[in-house]
Amino acid sequence: QNNISTVLKNLNILDLNPAYSTGSEWGLSAHSQILDSCSPVDGKRIAGVRITSNEDYEIVVNKAAEAFTFWRNLPAPKRGDIIRQFGDALRKNKDDLGTLVSYEMGKSLQEGLGEVQEMIDICDFAVGLSRQLYGLTMHSERPNHRMYEQWHPLGIVGVISAFNFPVAVWSWNTALAWICGNVCIWKPSEKTPITAVACQHIIAGIFKANGVPEGVSNLIIGDRQIGELMANDSRIALISATGSTRMGKAVAAAVASRLGKSLLELGGNNAIIISQHADLDMSLIGAVFGAVGTAGQRCTSTRRLIIHESVYNAFTEKLVKAYGQLKIGNPLDQKNHVGPLIDKEAVAGYLASIEKCKAEGGKFIVEGGVLTGPEYASGCYVQPCIAAVENDYKIVQHETFAPILYLIKYQKLDQAILLQNDVPQGLSSAIMTLNIREAEQFLSATGSDCGIANVNIGTSGAEIGGAFGGEKETGGGRESGSDAWRAYMRRQTNTINYANTLPLAQGIKFDL
Ligand code: NAD
Repeated sequence: QNNISTVLKNLNILDLNPAYSTGSEWGLSAHSQILDSCSPVDGKRIAGVRITSNEDYEIVVNKAAEAFTFWRNLPAPKRGDIIRQFGDALRKNKDDLGTLVSYEMGKSLQEGLGEVQEMIDICDFAVGLSRQLYGLTMHSERPNHRMYEQWHPLGIVGVISAFNFPVAVWSWNTALAWICGNVCIWKPSEKTPITAVACQHIIAGIFKANGVPEGVSNLIIGDRQIGELMANDSRIALISATGSTRMGKAVAAAVASRLGKSLLELGGNNAIIISQHADLDMSLIGAVFGAVGTAGQRCTSTRRLIIHESVYNAFTEKLVKAYGQLKIGNPLDQKNHVGPLIDKEAVAGYLASIEKCKAEGGKFIVEGGVLTGPEYASGCYVQPCIAAVENDYKIVQHETFAPILYLIKYQKLDQAILLQNDVPQGLSSAIMTLNIREAEQFLSATGSDCGIANVNIGTSGAEIGGAFGGEKETGGGRESGSDAWRAYMRRQTNTINYANTLPLAQGIKFDL
C-alpha cells in the first residue's frame, strides 16, 4: 500500500480528481458526482474522480474544436516530434504507470509494464509515420493534367476504451490520430479512470512544454451515458470504440445514423487448433498463457482449444498438470501467474457461465470456483477452469470475459477450421503445427476468417507493427500498425489542369 501511495504521488493523482481535462486545464464539474475507483487486488479505494457533466462536456468539445485549428497547421513531422517526447516521458514513468495499471485493473505487474511498453512502441511507430502518411499519384486520362491524392486530418476523434487495456488502447488511437493532425477526446472505462488521469497528466505536461494549446488531448469521465453523448455528437468526426459487442452495436448505430465514422474493436472468441503435428510443449505455453493471462480478460484470450483426437488425451493431461501449478494471487507479486477479475459483477458472470456450460452438457476437467481467504479479500479471485464441450453450445458461442477454457475434439483439419470459424466473433486465431501444408491451409482464403491468424504462437499478445482488429461481431476495425493510420484521415483526390483548354473526362464534349 505504501508503494501505491508513492506511485499515486509520482503520477500526480489526487484523492479527488477533477472531472475533465482539456490539455493542461483541469476542470471541476458543476455537479460533483463522484466515481470511486477500487482495486480488484485488495478491494481498497484508490482515489475518486468527479464525473463530467453535460455542461463540462460542452466545454471540452469547444476546446477541442479550437485546438484543432492550431494543431492541423503544425507540420506532421513537428507533431511527430511532440509524440517522441511523449514516448520519452512514458519511458520515465513506466514503472509507476505500469504498477498503477496492475493495481487498478488487476493484471500482473509484468503485463502492466508490458502495456506501458506498448504505448512507448506505438509512439516510436507514430514518429516514423509522421514523415510518411503517403498518398498515391495517378495518371490522368487528360493531357497536361496531374492527379494525386492526399490525406487530411478528420478533426475531433473520440476514443471510448475498455477496462482491460486501460492505457494501451488509448495510445494506439491517439498517437496515430495526433500525428495525423487530429485532436482527441478520451472516455476511459468507468472501471479504470485513475490510470486515465495519470496518462492525461503526462501528455498535458508535454503539450504545455511545447506551447501546444489545451484541447489537443482531452479527458472526460463517466459511464455509457457520456459515451452515448459522444456517439451522437456530429462534431466528433470519428468514434473509435473498444469494448463489448453489445456496446459496439449501440455505438455503430448511433454514429451511422449521423453518417459519422466509427472504428470498432469488439469482443473475440479465439481458438487455437492443436494438430497431431504440433509441438505439444510449445502449444502448452501458448494455450495456458492465452487462457489465464490477464485472468482471461483479454479480447484475444484463448477461449477454445480445438484438439486433434490423436493428441487430445495427452494434451489434456499436460493442461491439467499445468493448471495445477498455477499460482493465483496479488498480481503485483511476481510469483503469481493469475490475478483477480475486474469486479464482483465479472465474478458473477464467470459463475453463471460455468452453470450454463454444465446445463448444456459441458464436463469440467478442471473445476472453477471463487477463492476465499485473506489474500483474496476483494472477492474477485477465481480458479481458471477447463471444460470439454461441443462448439455449438450457446455458452461456447458467447464471449465470457473470464478464465474458462473450452476443449473441442476434431478428426480432420477441414473440420477444425470450420469449428474455429463457427462463432459470431472473428478476432484472433492460431494453429499449432509443424506441418507446412496445414499451416498454409489455415492462413489461406479457405482458412481462418479472423483478423489475426497465427502459426505456432497463441492467440494473445499482438505486436504494435501489424494492424490489429477482427471481423464479424468483432467490428471490422483495424488499429495500431500497418496502414491503420488511414482510419484517422480523410482522403482527398486532387486533379490539376495546367493546359490552356478545359477537356472533360470521358471525352464528353461541351462547347459554348
Ligand atoms: P464495455 O462494452 O462494457 O465498455 C467499454 C466502453 O464502452 C466503456 O468505456 C463504457 O463506458 C463504454 N460504453 C458502454 N456502452 C456504451 C454505449 N451504449 N455507448 C457508448 N459507450 C458505451 O466493455 P468492457 O467490459 O470495458 O471491456 C471488455 C470487452 O472489450 C470485451 O468484450 C473485450 O473483448 C473487448 N475488447 C476488445 C478489444 C479489441 O481490440 N477488439 C480490446 C479490448 C477489449
